[in-house]
Amino acid sequence: LFLTFEGGDGSGKSTQSALLTEWLTDRGETVVHAREPGGTELGLELREIILHRRGYMAPRAEALLYAADRAHNVATVVRPGLDRGDVVIQDRYLDSSVAYQGAGRVLSTTEVRELSLWATEGLLPHLTVLLDLDPALGRERLDASRTRYDRLEAEAAIFHERVRDAYLALAEAEPGRFLVLDATEPVGALQERIRSRVSALLDT
Ligand code: C5P
Repeated sequence: LFLTFEGGDGSGKSTQSALLTEWLTDRGETVVHAREPGGTELGLELREIILHRRGYMAPRAEALLYAADRAHNVATVVRPGLDRGDVVIQDRYLDSSVAYQGAGRVLSTTEVRELSLWATEGLLPHLTVLLDLDPALGRERLDASRTRYDRLEAEAAIFHERVRDAYLALAEAEPGRFLVLDATEPVGALQERIRSRVSALLDT
């Protein structure tokens, strides 16, 4: 079973995926909990370049680096885990690229999705939990102490609005794969909803 968590920054993906990992492990499942970008040794090097390298990076170069990270992670972590019969839970996967590189950076969402499908040899999750959140609230959660907003931040706000809209459009296009949750709900209530959906998948 391959489960992914998606959503904007500060939406609670890592909290929810960690709780789900704990619950599944208690139920006797072997769980591989991975993340993107940076779920492998090569991935960590790519993450460093993508997120911390100084200076301009062309959007297509960025998209290819995310795709490279994803390709390596799928080949060396996700597929081997699935082949062993483990549950693989991943924070972020191809929908992140469609939303961030496709819609956010204004590349074509269709092309970015195709690139990802090539990178992963077409591997799609059985379930994708989308933690939907107003990006302004996500920001506050991550960075509660800041009060100053400058021009760059206003641009970032528009970027993150595009990302959110793209996620919602993806969920609408594939309602069977997505579970869309309101990330402002309490942690425990969200986790209950996720568990009940995952239980149903495990029982089928
Ligand atoms: O999820 P995580 O916090 O590790 O992501 C690190 C950063 O990378 C986030 O700020 C996220 O917005 C960005 N990101 C991105 N495109 C992706 C995945 C993550 O821009 N495909």
